[in-house]
Amino acid sequence: MMGRMSAPSGLPRSVDVLIVGGGATGAGLLRDLARRGLTALLVDMGDLASGTSGRYHGLLHSGARYIARDPQAARECIVENAVVRRIAPACIEDTGGVYVATPDDPDDYVDAFPARCAAVGIPCTEEPLEALFRREPALNRRIRRAYRIPDASLEPWQLVEANLRDAAERGGRALPYRQVVAIERSGGFVSSVSIRDVRSGTVDRIAPRIVVSAAGAWAGRVAGLAGIDLPMSPGKGTMLVYNQRMADIVVSRCKPPSDGDIMVPVHTVAILGTTDIPIDDPDDYEATPAEIAGLIDEGEKLFPDLRRMRILRAYAGVRPLYSADLGGASGAGRADREISRAHVVIDHEARDGVTNFVSIVGGKLSTYRLMAEQTADVVCAKLGIDRPCSTADEVLPGQGNGRSYYWLGDRLAAHEATGGGDAALICECELVTRPMLEAFVAERAPCSLDDVRRGTRLGMGPCQGAFCTFRAAGVLAALEPAADVATETRAQSGDEDSLVAFLRERYRGTRPIAWGRQLQELWLSMGIYWGTLGVDACVPVPAPEAVGDGPG
Ligand SMILES: Cc1cc2nc3c(=O)[nH]c(=O)nc-3n(C[C@H](O)[C@H](O)[C@H](O)COP(=O)(O)OP(=O)(O)OC[C@H]3O[C@@H](n4cnc5c(N)ncnc54)[C@H](O)[C@@H]3O)c2cc1C
Repeated sequence: MMGRMSAPSGLPRSVDVLIVGGGATGAGLLRDLARRGLTALLVDMGDLASGTSGRYHGLLHSGARYIARDPQAARECIVENAVVRRIAPACIEDTGGVYVATPDDPDDYVDAFPARCAAVGIPCTEEPLEALFRREPALNRRIRRAYRIPDASLEPWQLVEANLRDAAERGGRALPYRQVVAIERSGGFVSSVSIRDVRSGTVDRIAPRIVVSAAGAWAGRVAGLAGIDLPMSPGKGTMLVYNQRMADIVVSRCKPPSDGDIMVPVHTVAILGTTDIPIDDPDDYEATPAEIAGLIDEGEKLFPDLRRMRILRAYAGVRPLYSADLGGASGAGRADREISRAHVVIDHEARDGVTNFVSIVGGKLSTYRLMAEQTADVVCAKLGIDRPCSTADEVLPGQGNGRSYYWLGDRLAAHEATGGGDAALICECELVTRPMLEAFVAERAPCSLDDVRRGTRLGMGPCQGAFCTFRAAGVLAALEPAADVATETRAQSGDEDSLVAFLRERYRGTRPIAWGRQLQELWLSMGIYWGTLGVDACVPVPAPEAVGDGPG
């Protein structure tokens, strides 16, 4: 394999494979290639897993969602469901899942559900309603049938981290805040790639033997840099985070996929989703009041008291849908739910005459490993390498004893085992202690508070960062290298500091749902940051029309 020469920025000048995109797919691919003995470098324009992988719904799919319209995707899901459970148990809470028939759901779909599951290999049993209601009292008592399937809750940041760690142990490198800004071609060959360090602004060039775009919803743009037309069809999905789990199991509507048809318990909260709206720009993903109102209307059919429960925030992600089968149709009028959720590995040699460029598009987080395996197979074939994939067999690092799933009480148990108490707690909602924060910064500096949030869940609980953000900012500032934090900050938000960037991101999610109790909480938070700490100009006061009384 190629030796490594370093460019002044620390980038190797040449590697076997450059991976563009540090979501689950890119991280899985880095792991796979490193295990097959290739030198690989992964770059992401933001933090790792800050794209769709960090903004998804949190479901390890059983595949039941796709049984009617997309049996191929359903089959892939159930196979990979078992694989991910085996290799990443600590990233999974084995909640199980239930598909319920409300009075609004079509009889023919409900009746055909078990046979369709069986046809693609998804274990499915009918659940006695009395037992279900006893266990999950918040469910709608008008639910008339329920089927059990092996859905689960899957933590994305830990999963990505574990894949990157496994890769790093074999020489695979991942660099956040490095954006691919140009792909130079010499005829049908990518001769070099220009990578900009987002924090310092410097640009370096490297000459990989193969470039793989794992850029998700941005794959069309990355292909465009190489002069290739790749018709992506990004689809925005909005989700609502509630301040409690109204069920300990994933609850889905037994009907064709539609808005507001699923509630996923994720750590201490529950997430209702999603919408599916065609967009042209993958960076345009604001949650709108109309989407929020529609989600609550549908969600009430699962949990009748939903309207009275407190929403912590709204957020949205962008599906990396590949629209070749629609002739590249984009924008309004396109039916995103009709586009396959299966993935496609595109060898641009066969399609566009570019010999060393590959894109992996579509798919789901649940099938990230399979997507990576099939992409690595194409890369290896191009390089004339015949080494088998080992990612389905080997347990990822950091999975405890490799046999136990994550349990909601894990953090509390760990905190109490080390003495408990409040002294070292930085974030009470998510039980982030000072040693946890210090360990994260030691490994990941330079990092922003938003990176800390993804890595530790700081600020993700009921107070949405009101009480922990300034504490965490203080700890970060006190830790070395302080200069790195400042550099990061400048690059991210001009001359504002990391605290403001973090608060803005939290505020972005709180503003669309600011009514009732959550509006009180927002004002309290603003009182702390604006009134007490003087962080005023950067946290805009909500306009009256933006808050209102909430949907409905
Ligand atoms: C609302 C919603 C809910 C979903 N829910 C589920 C679910 O419950 N279960 C499930 O299995 N799947 C779900 N999915 C699908 C799943 O989230 C995605 O398929 C998956 O996360 C895509 O991962 P990825 O690594 O391919 O893309 P991403 O995670 O988006 O990673 C691509 C990365 O490329 C980077 N990038 C782009 N351009 C450049 C460049 N020029 N230079 C450097 N880096 C670049 C981006 O910064 C980004 O981090 C959901 C999707 C959405 C939108």
